[in-house]
Amino acid sequence: MQIEVIRSRRKTVGIQIIPPGRIVVRAPLALPQTEIQRILDSKRAWIEKHLASVRQRETEKETAGKLSWDEVEELGNRAVKELPPRLRELAKQVGVTYGRVTVRNQKTRWGSCSAQGNLNFNCLLMLCPRQVADYVMVHELCHRKELNHSPRFWAEVERVMPDYRDARNWLKEHGPALIARLPNG
Ligand SMILES: [Zn+2]
Repeated sequence: MQIEVIRSRRKTVGIQIIPPGRIVVRAPLALPQTEIQRILDSKRAWIEKHLASVRQRETEKETAGKLSWDEVEELGNRAVKELPPRLRELAKQVGVTYGRVTVRNQKTRWGSCSAQGNLNFNCLLMLCPRQVADYVMVHELCHRKELNHSPRFWAEVERVMPDYRDARNWLKEHGPALIARLPNG
């Protein structure tokens, strides 16, 4: 956690969470750093909870607004054009082949791989950073080697994409807000 300490002629310590995710501690001039740290440690759960809700509100703001069905269709068309060439490159890196590729709008998953090797991707990947779309493709391609999420599976993902955790975390953090943008029905 990155924390800014601002000292002033105040008598007490105040902690503020400022959007999009700054943690600011206001402290008296002479208070030792160790004491500030002690207070921070004791408030850790509070800080984390508020940081999470501030960040979530920010994410909701960024991704606010439902997509129309036309926009979803447009995303699907783009995905059908843009994902397969990249998928071919990534499949070479993973060292696997695959069957049919389909794109859908789904509220529950970003990608899937059938036992027959057919791959399916969520059209919302078009609204994710490129690295995140890569990760989802690598993930599904690695299921061509391991149809499970065993340590061997993750080792294979990591071999092809050493920083895959960043992308996975991005999806965990921002994915639900993106999925919430799909139209109802
Ligand atoms: Zn999987």
